[in-house]
Amino acid sequence: MGTTTSPSGSDQDQIYCHYCPGYCCYRLEGASLYIMADDINRLARHFGISDGEVRKRYMEGKYTFKTREDGSCIFLANDRLSKRCSVHEARPKQCRDYPYGKPCPYIERHDLLAAIHPRIAKALNIPE
Ligand code: SF4
Ligand code: SF4
Repeated sequence: MGTTTSPSGSDQDQIYCHYCPGYCCYRLEGASLYIMADDINRLARHFGISDGEVRKRYMEGKYTFKTREDGSCIFLANDRLSKRCSVHEARPKQCRDYPYGKPCPYIERHDLLAAIHPRIAKALNIPE
């Protein structure tokens, strides 16, 4: 979710987000991105479409975005390494708030990074 996707929280977090390819923008087991009505409306205004159209195009069920086969958020720009959230100005509140002023778990958890790095490498067509 860094400048890339979810810069918020402490200055330290923002520094990490700035150089991060957006690990938190991949859906992993146990992780959830919870989208609320305000988030949908913000996106609708961003795209100049209705809330219903946002739901139809981008939502999986009532409360989260669709993901691609590799688990990446539908809004993750998979062709670049930085500034990967294609709706950065209109991203959902959870993406803005994460990691809630705490150290980002993705940076410290090797298991999470190991799960996501190959997907990023594949998406960017670079050797792992
Ligand atoms: S909208 Fe998607 S790509 Fe953008 S920050 Fe949130 S999870 Fe990441
Ligand atoms: S994984 Fe952590 S450091 Fe990277 S963009 Fe998300 S919140 Fe920022």
